[in-house]
Amino acid sequence: MDIITDKRTIGMPRAISYYSNYPFYYGFFTALGLEIVLSDKTTSKTINDGCKYVVSDTCLPVKVYVGHVINLLDKGCETIFIPSLQASAYKINNCSKIRGLPEIIRNVINRPINIIDPEINKTEGISFKDFCYDFAGRFDITDKDFVESAIQKGWEVYNNFHKMAKSGLSFDEALKNAIEGKQVIKPVEVVRPLSVAIMAHGYNLFDERISLNLIKKLEKMGVKSYTALNVSREDAGKSIEALGEIQYWANELELTGTAAYYMNNNKIDGIIALSAFGCGPDSLMVEEVQYHAKEKNIPMIHLNIDEHTGEAGFVTRIEAFVDMLIRKKRRTLQKENIINLLHTAANKNKTAGVNTAEKHKEEILTTK
Ligand code: SF4
Repeated sequence: MDIITDKRTIGMPRAISYYSNYPFYYGFFTALGLEIVLSDKTTSKTINDGCKYVVSDTCLPVKVYVGHVINLLDKGCETIFIPSLQASAYKINNCSKIRGLPEIIRNVINRPINIIDPEINKTEGISFKDFCYDFAGRFDITDKDFVESAIQKGWEVYNNFHKMAKSGLSFDEALKNAIEGKQVIKPVEVVRPLSVAIMAHGYNLFDERISLNLIKKLEKMGVKSYTALNVSREDAGKSIEALGEIQYWANELELTGTAAYYMNNNKIDGIIALSAFGCGPDSLMVEEVQYHAKEKNIPMIHLNIDEHTGEAGFVTRIEAFVDMLIRKKRRTLQKENIINLLHTAANKNKTAGVNTAEKHKEEILTTK
């Protein structure tokens, strides 16, 4: 364990848990009196730097993570927060790469580095509070009341962030406001013709370089995206149960839970799964969701990404998917319009004993 007593600055890679927990970390760390140095946003250089240190089979988000650590070291920041995230609930685990991140960094980067790696492992009884006390202890901060009030501050920023994100603010907008201590609730937006649920880890989706700006690309095509930020953890958990599935992976609420919530509520025209090539947990979760989407007749596309993914091919696949959704929706609306007309006709003709409208309705409903 590295104990830092003289420094009050901590580096944070803008990757992996940054995308789920940064609002809490920001509130907690700053209330403890620490200054946070963030790595720069992901660029091609970040990815290339990361790729040099790990074997090619490693998933893209971990390569990106390594690139962010290099970026912090290049900025002269040697004390870096790399939490040891094992199990988020009893027997609900993170994947082995996330669990091993501090060790991966220790073993692949041969430069001076102080890794601050408090552990959370609810299977082993190590709670989130233990994690926070362990973290504060690394900076010789042991006053219980002081740490408690910093934890409280962390939750305030975190809850505010989620409230804004759930109302429809983008990840970046909600984060900026939360950090500035503001609360902006998005007014109800104009209804877009199509909507999709995106099933993806926050660290893939909200990193604009990794996701190749998927959300903005969809917006330009007139498609509204729903993400894990729009669904509460409780609703995501209940939705997984409603599908008859059980939660195993720590990120299952974010992925299966989001897709399940929107599938069950019948609010979407399609599902987009975005995952990293070679990711074991995602391949299982995507398979599971694909099975249920097929059952419910909801179109789904799986976009697999790695460091070689080209923007042109990526856009072509999205456009083709959106075109298909438009055709499907048009057909459904036409059917609905015809059925409405037939209902009206049937009501008018009822007194005259004519029943042709009902007959046609059956024909239309069975036409693919
Ligand atoms: S869950 Fe998948 S994408 Fe995320 S770190 Fe693990 S292997 Fe990589």
